[in-house]
Amino acid sequence: MLRIEHLGIAVKELEKSIPLFEQLLNTPCYKTEKVDTEGVNTAFFQTGESKIELLEATKEDSPIQKFVDKKGEGIHHIAFEVENIEAEMKRLSALGFELLNTVPKNGADNKLVCFLHPKTTNGVLIELCQEKR
Ligand code: ZN
Repeated sequence: MLRIEHLGIAVKELEKSIPLFEQLLNTPCYKTEKVDTEGVNTAFFQTGESKIELLEATKEDSPIQKFVDKKGEGIHHIAFEVENIEAEMKRLSALGFELLNTVPKNGADNKLVCFLHPKTTNGVLIELCQEKR
């Protein structure tokens, strides 16, 4: 894996969290994007070579809504950038890691993504992401 591409943080309201993180990180939010298939609104901040992604649920059955209801706001996932997402999915699956999607799907910020089930990764939701080319 190349680097930590971003940390995903689940929040209740982007409207409140964007200004908070702008102050915290001392950098403006450079992009917001709705990902309909995931039921989320996202907001991105650049911090050095990595990013912070804030996630807000757009519907009741969104995974982010379920997460916030259960655990409250907080770190939701760690995303690693990979060179070749399909090769990495194959490698991890062969090692026994459970993939939450069997083909790469479209994520925010021009990425192909795949998630690993937290039960096979010590409770941490892991996202693999590859820049779309
Ligand atoms: Zn993410």
